[in-house]
Amino acid sequence: MTEGDVMWQRKWVLGNWKMNGRLATIRTLLTELLPQIHDAQQVQLGVAVPTVYLQEVTECLSGSRIWSGAEDVSQFANDGAYTGETSAAMLADVGARFALVGHSERRQYFNEGNAVLRQKYQHCLSERVLPILCIGETLAEREADQDEAVVAQQLAILADLSLDSVVVAYEPVWAIGTGQVATVAQIAAMHAFIYSQILSLCGAGVKIRVLYGGSVNAQNAADILAVAHVDGALVGGASLQPDSFAAIIQAAQTAE
Ligand code: PEP
Repeated sequence: MTEGDVMWQRKWVLGNWKMNGRLATIRTLLTELLPQIHDAQQVQLGVAVPTVYLQEVTECLSGSRIWSGAEDVSQFANDGAYTGETSAAMLADVGARFALVGHSERRQYFNEGNAVLRQKYQHCLSERVLPILCIGETLAEREADQDEAVVAQQLAILADLSLDSVVVAYEPVWAIGTGQVATVAQIAAMHAFIYSQILSLCGAGVKIRVLYGGSVNAQNAADILAVAHVDGALVGGASLQPDSFAAIIQAAQTAE
């Protein structure tokens, strides 16, 4: 089996730094993290970082097993008059291996919906930047029993794209940055649902990783990563602490 095949059987742990860090703190974070992850040979690793620091992070991580990635990508494919935008081709040019698409903070603050997100997803595919589609319901939607309907609607951007692999991060909005983690039962039910949706949208042969995100930390990671259909974690706050992020990676390394 090739390394390319094996990664679809591993646990994945991706960090999301959001709008945090400075050159000096980033260098310190990575310098402290890298020596702690030598044993984690069975985990697929990455950090999504502010675009302005992407090239620096890519250079710091070269030769390591951690991918650098972007937190967002432009809906526009080609160079042109799009002030402030960063295209998928630019991300690839500075070494990004993946990009988050549709993080709930993008949906909330920038009103990103399926039409724009499908364009972003497709531009990533064209430039061989792996899109990580972020989905998840708000608390009001869960309380109205709409969680599965919302997630199904968010996944619909995957229809008719002839995909052979899909990576999704399920992040209930009410669990992001709040310290409130979904229960094991809630995670298990939603991840099974997401698997079934992806299979029906993309066909039986598609390779799938569904990551959980929302207040994952060093203490709860092992329990979450042991849940059926949880293929890894997308980690926000705890990815800014090298010891915590390393502990989550270690939990993924030993997860069944
Ligand atoms: C995230 O930003 O994707 C996230 C899951 O954040 P946190 O881990 O801080 O809840």
